[in-house]
Amino acid sequence: MVEHRKPIPVAEAVERVIKKAQALGTERVALGDSYGRILAEPVKASHDVPPFNRSPYDGFAIRSQDSAGASGENRKRFEVIDHIGAGAVSGKTVQEGEAVRIMTGAPLPAGTDSVVMFEQTVDSGSSITIRKPFEALENVSLQGEDMQKGDAIIESGSFIHPGTVAVLATFGYAEVIVARLPVVGILSTGTELLDVSEPLVPGKIRNSNGPMIAAQLMRMGIRCRTYGMSADDLDASFAVVKQAAEETDILITTGGVSVGDFDFLPAIYERLGADVLFNKVAMRPGSVTTVAVANGKYLFGLSGNPSACFTGFELFVRPAILKMMGADKLYLPHTQAVLAEDFEKPNPFTRFIRAAYDGASVQPAGFNMSNAVSSIARGNALIVLPGGTRGYQAGTMVDVLLLGVEEGSNEWAL
Ligand code: AMP
Ligand code: MG
Repeated sequence: MVEHRKPIPVAEAVERVIKKAQALGTERVALGDSYGRILAEPVKASHDVPPFNRSPYDGFAIRSQDSAGASGENRKRFEVIDHIGAGAVSGKTVQEGEAVRIMTGAPLPAGTDSVVMFEQTVDSGSSITIRKPFEALENVSLQGEDMQKGDAIIESGSFIHPGTVAVLATFGYAEVIVARLPVVGILSTGTELLDVSEPLVPGKIRNSNGPMIAAQLMRMGIRCRTYGMSADDLDASFAVVKQAAEETDILITTGGVSVGDFDFLPAIYERLGADVLFNKVAMRPGSVTTVAVANGKYLFGLSGNPSACFTGFELFVRPAILKMMGADKLYLPHTQAVLAEDFEKPNPFTRFIRAAYDGASVQPAGFNMSNAVSSIARGNALIVLPGGTRGYQAGTMVDVLLLGVEEGSNEWAL
């Protein structure tokens, strides 16, 4: 008799998975290795930025009061008494009618409070003239205008992108505390599987899921451990799964979670005494996606069908990993776009369609079956069509999940 499974909504499945996440702890890495990691300490400004009043232009620093009354007919003359570039500090204190030639980034010399750009002067070398008055602090980049000492700048849990790295460098973080990366294992199950390097023989196919998931992990900055492929044999698969689960924080298996005669993952979960969070999700593809927890370790049982496997990773594995790392943005970024072609096939379950999104419209990426490989390659997004009895017409606004965007969203927006 075929076991009856009760499907749960996708949002509930995501919720159940995330709830089980256990914090991984933290480690220190060199700033240069921090890109793509999750920050595990808040960043406060330890000093003002800029740290001193400085010139935002190449020009001349003057005392603004000396420019009062300047005009085309009444040009004011300044004697140039010093010359500084960025990184230098003038030793002079500027007196009435004097100026210092100053380059972008150099601190304003004592006595000065404004900067006249080169273009606003007639320059004769030892002196300049100007034709308009300047106000105090005109053309001055003020100490602390960007960040003030004590300001909270970046929260713990943030994704470290190049801008984050710039802030960390500004405040002297040669090392950064980041979330530890999970140890993730991949095991591809199926007697039909060949390794990438093997020639095709009748009845067999090459394992595409294993390398695909490894790449999905790489996209998150995580290198996986591969447990290779196992034939559909209960005892042999159990032994590998048991060992892999001991050696990893997360074990991702592909295939064998359905109700076929050679689908042994359900029996393996039972033997392990695992807590099965769900084994049926109201979605296409990937309704058989199963997530279990055993001894605090996640076991993700993804469908063997490549499109289902891919989608299962993005919907469930990705947010679980991010939650373990204490990330604040767990979900795929979400937008809406115009459906570029009719999608006739109705479905009672929510459908995720591999698609090409161009910033305005979104187009299904070809052959649309759960066993498709080509559409994964052609897509950069997933169209989300709520379940129902009708299809969808071209021109309809639809929900879209974006793939491969380095920073996610902080809400499950569907
Ligand atoms: P299963 O989930 O084991 O019932 O497999 C569903 C379908 O996906 C079958 O047609 C399998 O041959 C195929 N499949 C399973 N594992 C893989 C894999 N690692 N790479 C490519 N296709 C797979
Ligand atoms: Mg199988």
